Formats: sequence, C-alpha cells, structure tokens
Amino acid sequence: MDNLVLDSRLRGNERMLSIANFPANTRDARGEGQQRLTSRSEPLPASEAAGREFSPWTDPAAVPLIRFQNVTRRFGDVTAIDGLSLDIYEREFFALLGPSGCGKTTLMRMLAGFETPSEGRVLLGGQDLAGVPPYRRPVNIMFQSYALFPHMTVADNIAFGLKQESLPRAEIVERVSAMLKLVHLEGMERRKPDQLSGGQRQRVALARALAKRPKVLLLDEPLAALDRKLREQTQFELMDIQATLGTTFMIVTHDQEEAMTVADRIAVMDHGRIVQMGAPTEIYEQPSSRYVAEFVGNVNLIEATVSGRDGGAVLLESTIGSPLRAIVTENIVPQTKVALALRPEKIRITVRKPDTTENVARGEVVGIAYLGDLSIYQVRLESGQVVKAARPNVTRVAEQPIARGDKVFLSWTPEAGVVLTR
Ligand code: ATP
Repeated sequence: MDNLVLDSRLRGNERMLSIANFPANTRDARGEGQQRLTSRSEPLPASEAAGREFSPWTDPAAVPLIRFQNVTRRFGDVTAIDGLSLDIYEREFFALLGPSGCGKTTLMRMLAGFETPSEGRVLLGGQDLAGVPPYRRPVNIMFQSYALFPHMTVADNIAFGLKQESLPRAEIVERVSAMLKLVHLEGMERRKPDQLSGGQRQRVALARALAKRPKVLLLDEPLAALDRKLREQTQFELMDIQATLGTTFMIVTHDQEEAMTVADRIAVMDHGRIVQMGAPTEIYEQPSSRYVAEFVGNVNLIEATVSGRDGGAVLLESTIGSPLRAIVTENIVPQTKVALALRPEKIRITVRKPDTTENVARGEVVGIAYLGDLSIYQVRLESGQVVKAARPNVTRVAEQPIARGDKVFLSWTPEAGVVLTR
C-alpha cells in the first residue's frame, strides 16, 4: 500500500516536473550577476571533484542555493519542524540525519513542494517558493521504494519524464544514453525492472531522477533496500555521480555511516530542530552534545565534575578513580557537571599498566566482538560502568591477545575525549 502511495505521488511529480518553466533567477556563488534556474550546474573542475575540497559555507561571500528561513511546520498538535533555519549551497551533498520522527522527511517535502510551511520561508536561488507547485520547482525526488514503472523497460523508465516534457526525440535518446552510461547500465536498456537486481533498480531510479537535470536532487533513504556491501559500493557511486554532474544533493537518512560517507555536510536533527551542523569529521570529532555524540558513531560517556583548570585543559573527577584531564576550547567553570565523550578507537587497551596516573582506568574484559578489521572490547570498570575500546587487528595474530575475563587497563590522552556540557 505504501508503495502505491509513493508510486502515485512520484507519477504526479514526474508528470508535472518542468524545469524550463521555473521563473526564478539566482545569483551565482560569487554574486556576479544573474543565472536562470533552468539548467543543471556545470560539472565541478576535475581537481575539486577528485579531492572534494569544498566548503562554501565557510565563505561569507557565498550565496546559498537553498534557504530555509525560520520554518515551522505543524500537523495539528505535532510540531514536525520547529523554527528551523538552514542554508545549502550549490553543488553541495547535504545530509539530514536523525532518528525516526525528527522531521527529516517533512523538511525535504517542503523543499519539493509537497508540504507548505506553517510559518517561515523556503527560498531557492533567492526566490520564495511559496505558491510554486512541485512541477515548477527545479527539484526532483528519489524515493526509497524507487517506484519504477514495472511494465516499462529501463530506457522507458528513464525517458518517462523527458517524454512528458515533450523533448525532441533525438534529445531524449541522447539523454537516456548518457544516463545509462552514468549509472553503468549500458546494455540493460531493454530489460524490465523485475529482470534487474536491487542495486540495478536503484540505479535506474537514480538515472530517471537525474535525466531531467534538476538543480536539486532529494534522496529519501535511497539505499535502504540494498544489502550492506552493495550499499557501500553504491554510496561511492552516488558521490561520483554527484561530483560529475555538480547537482546539489540532499539526502535523508537515519544511517549515520551513510551520511558520514557521502555528505559534505551533515545536519543532525532532533524534534524538528537542527542540533548540530558541520562536516562529517566535525560532527564526529567535536559533537556539541551528548545527543549528537551518541547518535553519530559509538561513544563512551563518562559522567564527571570539573574540579579545576590547568592551561588549556580541565581536570575532572569521576567514578573512574584516576584523575582525568581533557583539553577544552571553551571556558568551563569548576563544579560544572559534564560528560567526557570518548570514542572506542581513542582508548588504548593493555594488559600492562601504562606509565601514567592520569586518564587511566582498570577493568575486566566482559565481551569481545571480532569485526575483522578491528576488535571491540567491552570492559567493566571498577566503577561498574562498561566501556568499549577498539583495537585494530593490524597483524593476523595479536602479539598479546586479550581474552574475556582478563584484567586490563584503559588509557587515553587529554586530546582524546570531548568535554560535553549539554
Ligand atoms: P522517518 O525517519 O521515520 O521517516 P522523519 O524524521 O522523516 O521520520 P517526519 O516524517 O518528517 O519524520 O515526521 C515528523 C513528525 O511529524 C512525526 O511526529 C510525524 O508523525 C509527524 N507527521 C509527519 N507528517 C504528518 C502528517 N501528514 N500528519 C500528521 N503528522 C505528521
């Protein structure tokens, strides 16, 4: 039933999408003059595409392509989006990350035109989108279910939106062929969707969504139906395609690894608000709260109280036993209750006692997960807290194997943890 609903929604969207009719003008990224929102972006320069060194949000002169300004969306008593502001830049691969029900899909649907803000404005290329129907927006959406037309061939599925737009036949043929090449499906154009693997179907859906050269492509959990290995491979393909075309991609996912892999920037959402936004490394290495630290990756949170300062570090008291020292960038006053967030891979696990009296804890190994490339050790500290420590399996046989029941020491540097006040 869900699929049917999505299918009909997509059909409506596909049928009506018409980039050429979009009335907006936009300034380009340097603010030099006007550019009509009628065609896709130019491909990235090769150096930029290869290195993905791309951070327009740090440039105060850069003009955002998409702007959510103080947007609220209510459904009866439910506030799905709560006074949210967000700028997204041309050519960006942007990810909305958050647990089920946090408002990701609602935000995306407002950009596509399937929902209207209760308050605030959504702008694209400087134009307020209020009153602009979905088919007049240079935005296309690719749904989780793919919603391919089962009776049509691969080529016809890709050509569908182009035929609706009555493009000349030669151009349709050319675009379909370019799309087949882009998604590596050459030779499969005559097959029907049920003659394809899940990954191939996903690529047809992507080709269909991109064939009309939207300025913005919205991807709603696009890889959810793929198995892990195929999903990882497809993530790289998505990044490649996005860099090649220069289209702005906005992906909605609750899979943090996926967001970290593909996106230039991630917004972590909670209850209709953005709680942190930044490049994947920033979100992972510098989470701003317990919520973000716990949502993105594995983390150990050690509750502590600030007992003093020493230069750029704070000294912490906790149930761990040894005094803790952690580098901080903000001014945290003594007696503040904090959490020290420590990623498992930042913790050293040894049988021998390390030569330090700070940032060290004793415990017993209560579980080991062998993951091939690394092993995760669950260590119950004397305080009772169970902490995870990761150890890469760099040699085939660990020099000093650690077994369940072993007494071990965990230690870390003052730079390893992040002190969280929220
Ligand atoms: P998921 O990952 O499960 O898709 P999400 O983060 O995309 O979740 P939304 O679908 O945007 O979340 O929903 C946000 C909130 O708004 C939820 O509480 C949801 O129940 C509510 N909501 C969304 N659409 C409607 C609607 N049409 N009518 C009533 N409530 C709605």
